[in-house]
Amino acid sequence: VPRELPAALGLVPVFVDSCAVASGVAEVGETVGSDSCSFCRALLGASQAGAEWLRRLPLLIGGSACDQQRRLFESIGRQWDIPVHGFVVPRTRSENAFERYLCQLKDLVARLEGLSGTSLRPESLAKAIAQYRRLRLRLRELRERMRFSSFARLAAACFQLPVDVALELLEGAELPSRPGPPVRLMLAGSCATPTELEDLDDCLRELGAEVVADALPTLGALLEPAPGASCAALEEVARVWFDQPDPGTRPNEAWFEYIKSRADAVQAQALIYRCLRFCDLCSAEAVRLRETLAPLPVLVLDEELGAGKGAAARRRTRIEALLEGLRCPRA
Ligand code: SF4
Repeated sequence: VPRELPAALGLVPVFVDSCAVASGVAEVGETVGSDSCSFCRALLGASQAGAEWLRRLPLLIGGSACDQQRRLFESIGRQWDIPVHGFVVPRTRSENAFERYLCQLKDLVARLEGLSGTSLRPESLAKAIAQYRRLRLRLRELRERMRFSSFARLAAACFQLPVDVALELLEGAELPSRPGPPVRLMLAGSCATPTELEDLDDCLRELGAEVVADALPTLGALLEPAPGASCAALEEVARVWFDQPDPGTRPNEAWFEYIKSRADAVQAQALIYRCLRFCDLCSAEAVRLRETLAPLPVLVLDEELGAGKGAAARRRTRIEALLEGLRCPRA
């Protein structure tokens, strides 16, 4: 969902995904099924884990191609009595599907106009687009100067603030440059909670490696897509969002090519492809992703992430083996 739309109407879009914390995982019960991914359960349990402001949201906008995520928004709405504006992002990439997507965005705009008491004007939309472009650009400038998990936290925090406030905070921020990490990794796959990223980053720090790029839905959705500076119409914004690479779309070649070109551009030595249990959307693409990356000198570690005792230790062992493979290619 383009966050430029509420911002252009004077509303503050808040990115709720970053509230998902492992400690707040909701128990299987009335509102969450036993086949829900742990990310959905962590987001559903977020208010119990301390993010009580979630309960005061005037509207929850849930547009997704993932069935579990859409069900999650409905559950959150029911559980906390928040009105939900949910819609299905079409999975096919055809002109017909684009028209359906555009139609849904128009419905959303009408609802947001009712909430804000104003109408969407081209100049307000152009201003919101320009501000979010600057914010994304500024975050990208800081990316290489921070460890991955700190950057993920910063980006999520910026997308919880009004865009002008976030810009003001970042505008003067300068960080010293850092030496490149000894081992360069890329991360892709299922949605990730900030706590999982921090745990992973801690583990990698101890092992002398670092994530230098990612293609995660949770973080990627913040930094991309970025509508062009000349965009000023709803149709143009919709087109940019509709065309973004996504594993859940058909065809989804663009997503494979995106990961391949990113891995190549950042000279990643290995890709950690993490799939949460019950995330069929990502699991289904693991084999093809490995084939896509085969021409590059990039090792691929497929991880099926479970919870429970021993999960962290198992993960560490597998990453150690990956790094060993990078250091001794013939091993
Ligand atoms: S994409 Fe996967 S990880 Fe993300 S909400 Fe859907 S099932 Fe869960």
